[in-house]
Amino acid sequence: MSINTEIESALEDLRKKAWSDLCGQVKACTKCPLHRTRRNTVFGEGPTENCRCVIIGEAPGVEEDRDGKPFVGKAGILLNEILSANGIPRESVYIMNVLKCRPPSDDPKKQNRPPKSDEINACKGYLEAQLLLLHPDIIVTMGNTPTKFILETDKGITAIRGKWCDKRGIKILPMFHPSYLLHGRNDPDSPDRLNTFADAKKLKAALDWLKSH
Ligand code: SF4
Repeated sequence: MSINTEIESALEDLRKKAWSDLCGQVKACTKCPLHRTRRNTVFGEGPTENCRCVIIGEAPGVEEDRDGKPFVGKAGILLNEILSANGIPRESVYIMNVLKCRPPSDDPKKQNRPPKSDEINACKGYLEAQLLLLHPDIIVTMGNTPTKFILETDKGITAIRGKWCDKRGIKILPMFHPSYLLHGRNDPDSPDRLNTFADAKKLKAALDWLKSH
């Protein structure tokens, strides 16, 4: 084994250990009040080696909190549809959220609420560490919360969806969150849905380009 291979192998072992430690820290986390109401933390799901693309949503919902996995409810089904319609296997991307615990709504008509800024501040170190360890080429931010957080912008998702941005050499593609597309009329031919499928097509083209270079 060459010295370079030995160093690479040692670094990979360290990265795996750091990932596993991070996962354990999230499971035990009590840094914000959401730990009191969660059933499970939702760390994320997908390939952790040679990860090309990360999708970041807002926070776990009821189904995610129940299963401990991201995007497993109706929004997850729509996400799968958006990805598979464009030839992107869900298993090929790492999927996670800004918050690792569900923010429950005080409104009895709603199950979840958007994250509060102090919750994001308490949790953001985990997301930043995940991104550092995964080191993706592309980040897809789904909805306002991850888009504003990652791009450090006040612009709303409607203004910047589908526009490639760059952050420290990583390509960022903001898209609508699938749960937003399910609200209201839930029209499969709505412009927002059609735009989202078109945005996923841009993502596929970028992934294909990365594969060939
Ligand atoms: Fe910890 Fe984040 Fe869960 Fe708050 S949301 S308890 S900071 S893991």
